[in-house]
Amino acid sequence: MPARVESDEKYVLDLVAQVLAEPDYRWQHRFPTLLGDPGKDGRQRPLPVDGYFPRHRLIVEYWERQHSAPVAIMDEGDTVSGVSRGHQRRLYDQRRQAFAKANGLLLVVLDYRGFETDEQGRLQRRPERDLVVVGEALRAAGVLSEPRRMQLDMEGYLAQVAEGCFVCRLVEDDPTLPPHHVIWRNSEAIAFLNRMPAVYGSVLVAPVEHREQVTGDFSLQQYLSLQRVVHAIAEAVRQALQPERVYVLSLGSQRANAHVHWHIVPCPPGLPLEEQQLSLLDARRDGVLELSPEEAEELVSRLQGYLPGWMRDRLAQE
Ligand SMILES: [Zn+2]
Repeated sequence: MPARVESDEKYVLDLVAQVLAEPDYRWQHRFPTLLGDPGKDGRQRPLPVDGYFPRHRLIVEYWERQHSAPVAIMDEGDTVSGVSRGHQRRLYDQRRQAFAKANGLLLVVLDYRGFETDEQGRLQRRPERDLVVVGEALRAAGVLSEPRRMQLDMEGYLAQVAEGCFVCRLVEDDPTLPPHHVIWRNSEAIAFLNRMPAVYGSVLVAPVEHREQVTGDFSLQQYLSLQRVVHAIAEAVRQALQPERVYVLSLGSQRANAHVHWHIVPCPPGLPLEEQQLSLLDARRDGVLELSPEEAEELVSRLQGYLPGWMRDRLAQE
């Protein structure tokens, strides 16, 4: 059934967008790797999801009456793959769920029965009341407890910087340094969560020793050895969070964070081109995520679960 702008589905998704403050969500989004069964020509086409909210890593499906009720017309006839339409719909629902899970996305179903409807199951559309229904459903699903964004505290950051090199302080377990969440370390390198991430899942890798020139202060051997850690951590991020791409960058400033470090940043799937790349990292514009200690710990152990054997052995020893 073609999606329509005036449909109840679009109305509900717009309410979700309002609650999440994510107005530029994707309606009827198709992920290239979420496929339906082969059609008459044998090709598998991407299955749409009703709404995709990339900033919240959320898929929302709105189930109209015909979705769950055995309405004769909708269920009539077999599909090309030989299953009834009703059965295929359930298969596709399961496929969307599995896709969401595999990609670290949350899938929330909003059912028409949660709203006030007329006898045909069409929404009465009372936005104030419907917004409350949507908000409660999202809260119950844990969506609204997503890490919150806060403005980048540039002054606080510079005050911290004035206390000395934050990587060296972390390596030396300086108790006056705000807490960091370390994923892995050895005598050569340390990997830890970015304390002020613009993107969920951002990790920093740094040499343990204070070096400032990303290539000039290392022998080729030392550099390649550090890249082995960068590769392993980036792979852990990729496998744990299933981003569209993983970015690896070495930035820094002689006036602030001079200690060489690599940013490993998962670019979430489905962002429009203009929100990718450096735009994704604009913490001064978009603020930074505020992860609770529990959220950070959860992320750390998830990433640790994807480390290669040679790194995990070291974790076990500690
Ligand atoms: Zn340092």
